[in-house]
Amino acid sequence: MLAYTYVERGRFALTEKPRPAPRDSRDAVVRVTLASICTSDVHIKHGSVPRAVPGVTVGHEMVGVVEEVGADVRTVKPGDRVTVNVETFCGECFFCQNGWVNNCTDPDGGWALGCRIDGGLAEYVRVPHADQGLDKIPDGVTDRQALFVGDILATGYWAADIAEIPEGGDVLILGAGPTGLCTLACAALKRPGRILVCEPDAARRALAEKMCPGALTFAPKDAAAFVRANTAHGGADAVLEVAGSADSFRLAWECARPNAVVTVVALYDAPQTLPLPDMYGKNLTFKTGGVDGCRCAETLGLIARGAIDTTPLITHTFPLARVEEAFDLFERRLDGVVKVAVEP
Ligand SMILES: [Zn+2]
Ligand SMILES: [Zn+2]
Repeated sequence: MLAYTYVERGRFALTEKPRPAPRDSRDAVVRVTLASICTSDVHIKHGSVPRAVPGVTVGHEMVGVVEEVGADVRTVKPGDRVTVNVETFCGECFFCQNGWVNNCTDPDGGWALGCRIDGGLAEYVRVPHADQGLDKIPDGVTDRQALFVGDILATGYWAADIAEIPEGGDVLILGAGPTGLCTLACAALKRPGRILVCEPDAARRALAEKMCPGALTFAPKDAAAFVRANTAHGGADAVLEVAGSADSFRLAWECARPNAVVTVVALYDAPQTLPLPDMYGKNLTFKTGGVDGCRCAETLGLIARGAIDTTPLITHTFPLARVEEAFDLFERRLDGVVKVAVEP
């Protein structure tokens, strides 16, 4: 089968590999029907994900049809349409029992697919702990609607949930890239009074307004003044930092009102400074982290009811045979790309 492979630092290639089979009684093999490319894949290519193993098939955003299951898989069967979770988790350890699946202590726990074990930019993918990692796609929900459920939409849903967004309050989202837009869609479900979105790219600001009519969008250079003028208490009640740019962490705490919650979803290239003397007396609460992506069934339900629609993120579609072209377009952000769908 065709598999897009991390050959060595700086190089991915489309290679031929044997079709995977279950190795453990809790594994499933999924025939991938639609996949996508994530910024994390770009980080792997450039060697900034030390855990990534050369030779591994990349790709951790995909949906498909269950092809084969091990003897102990209970929740899915061959023929089921499923989303695949970016995180592998056992469901049994202390962290899983608390819903903190990102820190599952299983050897395959956490982000393994497309990083430490073969991922989904391929015709087939083996999924360990299939009972936890696969969710059935409801009838009537298309592959394109479900494509982001296991990764960036899981992140947006988790972030909006921990951000303590008050109903009727003012929420600020920094960054309208793919994950920022998913976060926006989920934050809107909390019924804030005003949603402010800070993003340098005009096309992405327009997309944010299309996905969330009524959202107030603006560029980072006006951020502090714009937020002061458009919030009830001199800053946002809840800030979600999804940009990860050079000055977005500083903006996040500067644009928060006193006693706000600042949720940091972004992954930074460099360490960030927490200048406690400058923020003394503002009494902020910071939350950080990587997604605990174990609520995919809920997001699939919201998609089925029409409450979340992430299909406007898909700006380009390529067959798997042309994945190198798709990756280049995504990596260099050409042609207004937001997300690419890849069809095996
Ligand atoms: Zn990702
Ligand atoms: Zn676990």
